[in-house]
Amino acid sequence: MPIDVIIREVGPRDGLQLVKKFMNTDTKLDWITQQVRTGFKEIEVTSFVPPKLMPQFSDAEEVIHASNNLSRFTASALAVNLKGGVRALQAGTSVVNFVLSASESHSQSNARISTEAAIQVCYELIDWQKQNAPNSKIAVAIATSFGCPLQGTVDEYQVSKIAAQLAEAGPAEITLADTVGYANPSQVKRIFKAVAAEVQDVPLVAHFHDTRGLGLANVVAALDSGVQKFDASLAGLGGCPFAPGASGNIATEDTVNMCETMGLRTGIDLYALMQLRKRFSLWLPDEALEGRMIKAGISSTFTQTRSRVHSI
Ligand code: ZN
Repeated sequence: MPIDVIIREVGPRDGLQLVKKFMNTDTKLDWITQQVRTGFKEIEVTSFVPPKLMPQFSDAEEVIHASNNLSRFTASALAVNLKGGVRALQAGTSVVNFVLSASESHSQSNARISTEAAIQVCYELIDWQKQNAPNSKIAVAIATSFGCPLQGTVDEYQVSKIAAQLAEAGPAEITLADTVGYANPSQVKRIFKAVAAEVQDVPLVAHFHDTRGLGLANVVAALDSGVQKFDASLAGLGGCPFAPGASGNIATEDTVNMCETMGLRTGIDLYALMQLRKRFSLWLPDEALEGRMIKAGISSTFTQTRSRVHSI
């Protein structure tokens, strides 16, 4: 059975990013293992940022090695500079998601370089990967594609231009990220259509935060524009450093439920995922977890789109 929509879990990376208390490596691996069993084909398992800056990811190498020993899924990881990207590739990461920012102010404040310089770094990383890690892939994410907390509006034409420049280097895919939850459905349709026209056959991915309650509406808008892959985080874990108290990524279980009830096959067993979601609360007792499905449960009319996959 073909999959209609790919949902990539980003909780172990985006979700844990703002969690101060270190989740021990065994728990991370337990989470990843159990989520793979519910049918996930790709999980962003860690981030290759300096451990001094983010101690939560000081076990990045270990998490990648252990994840690579699990079958049936791709373990991807994030990098924000050349050093982190090379470290990720040297650790054997199959897909490295290199992030740069469409907003000049965000780029300067986060990475201390201009957007143009970050594009050059991405080219360098892709060159390094081709020569030294030909079995791995580099994907790119454009943060603040829909607005920036520092500079406000991000020029839509600028986003398309950056995507076109990146597409020339042949990345595995390009993600447009609404880093701070500024996107609205009309804007999502417009920008994805404009970018798709620029990048030819490079697949596009959507990354939405539910900061202002528009996360799933934006997913539908992106689906309407032809996007078939989405990032989501179990229990909507994650947040925004610029909006304290705001909710994080779109919740994985809510996203799976929406797609399946729309008749779009995700390959994910929602019943098994909800069992994992219940256990997940026990692992992070101090965190504010989000999502509607955990409160309301699976509806009595729900039927998994076509056949079920695995069960735990
Ligand atoms: Zn994010």
